[in-house]
Amino acid sequence: MANIVVLGTGMAGFGAAYRLNAEGIRPVLYDKANHFGGHTASFRDDKGFLFDLGPHISFTKDPRIQELFAKYVDDKYEAVQVKLDNYWRGLTLTHPVQLHLNGLPPDLIVEIVTDFLQEHNAPDRPIANYEDWLVASYGRKFAELFPMQYGRKYHTTTASNMTTDWLGPRMYRPSVQELLRGAVAKWQPEVHYITNFRYPTHGGFVSYMNDLPNMADIRLRHEVISIDPRERVARFANGRVTKYDALVSSIALPELLPMIAGAPQDVVEASQRLACTTCVLVNIGVNREDLSEGQIKYIYDDDIAFTRLSFPHMLSRHNAPDGCGSIQAEVYYSRKYKPLTESTDAIIERVIADLRRTGILRESDEILTRHAATVQYANVIFDLDRTEALKTVHGYLDDVGIHYCGRYGDWGYMWTDESFISGERAAEAALSGGAAGSRGK
Ligand SMILES: Cc1cc2nc3c(=O)[nH]c(=O)nc-3n(C[C@H](O)[C@H](O)[C@H](O)COP(=O)(O)OP(=O)(O)OC[C@H]3O[C@@H](n4cnc5c(N)ncnc54)[C@H](O)[C@@H]3O)c2cc1C
Repeated sequence: MANIVVLGTGMAGFGAAYRLNAEGIRPVLYDKANHFGGHTASFRDDKGFLFDLGPHISFTKDPRIQELFAKYVDDKYEAVQVKLDNYWRGLTLTHPVQLHLNGLPPDLIVEIVTDFLQEHNAPDRPIANYEDWLVASYGRKFAELFPMQYGRKYHTTTASNMTTDWLGPRMYRPSVQELLRGAVAKWQPEVHYITNFRYPTHGGFVSYMNDLPNMADIRLRHEVISIDPRERVARFANGRVTKYDALVSSIALPELLPMIAGAPQDVVEASQRLACTTCVLVNIGVNREDLSEGQIKYIYDDDIAFTRLSFPHMLSRHNAPDGCGSIQAEVYYSRKYKPLTESTDAIIERVIADLRRTGILRESDEILTRHAATVQYANVIFDLDRTEALKTVHGYLDDVGIHYCGRYGDWGYMWTDESFISGERAAEAALSGGAAGSRGK
């Protein structure tokens, strides 16, 4: 039986293990971390608050994945209607703002609608980047005040430096009628690509991976430091070495390429041009539950540290002690565009000060817990370098027969279900002995 080695124990590693199990193979999964689950790991602190390693909800529409995830938590999951809102210059606005302009100052609404109509009636122009797309879709005023401003915080670069091939259903383009309807009065259009989500009742998001230890031999604290694709050998920082017949990797490409023996310089350099955000997650627990109407809040203002807030106690009541609430704030950096230079303690203090300044935390709230985690690879940045650099890197991995997968192997904007499927595909390619990786989005 082929010795297929899998690097990473996140959703992609899980998908690979699942696919190999179907062939009667119990693979070995290696991970440098001391826990399994990658980005979907969950931790309960000593005060009883549970936080995921980044806010995670499952909104997959794929019935097969829905069924699988449900099975692994014994059908014990919360089915929740999504509630999202936006904070902008002291106002709380319904999501998506382009369909709910009525909360904005009247003069601004007039300016936004005028610009929108002007764009709507203009002849089509070529779209060279994300900024062009935003202006063509919403008019300049709205584009600059909302998505471009938010994007600078979330992607750490400008819209003019980004492509549009990550958009999918993420940004809703309203018709004239929809824009006007939302400008004159409140309404409830059903247009967001996420309407409902599921979340495990107990144990946080990682519970969806409850069965992984039964499917695979998991070796934690095994950091791969070199791979020789010719000899088919992987070496680990702890001195161990393993041989393989086929290798499936979910390691982030900028880390993977420099460790491959014989990788040409231009390919390694291409991997270093791939940009990704780093996210500092600040976790706060307080003695009050009614912290927010929605489970997720988007924050547009440049002078506020966090880009997104989520409220884990609203995903499952078991995520916080009775009567308490929790907040997870996302603060973004990137090696390429906005290096992380601040200490974690300073970021925690800044987040707490901004939670108070925005009124999300009251002066009377007692903070029961506070800590932070840094996710080095968070969201892939679709900058103008990505397409070419990725072609070079994936082409080389295909040539040397390393099957890449997952968000940071495919290097796409993939959700958990897509990372799982990507892992399945990479395992499938490894089984069939094909040279191609899972070649994702
Ligand atoms: C802030 C944030 C919020 C998100 N929210 C959602 C959401 O709500 N819903 C949703 O569906 N998706 C969400 N996602 C996306 C989701 O997290 C990913 O699609 C998925 O977790 C990626 O899984 P993966 O296995 O590809 O990568 P990872 O989970 O990163 O797994 C890679 C693994 O490789 C290991 N590794 C790395 N280097 C080495 C090495 N040298 N040696 C050994 N092991 C190594 C890592 O430790 C890690 O365990 C979110 C992502 C982020 C960043």
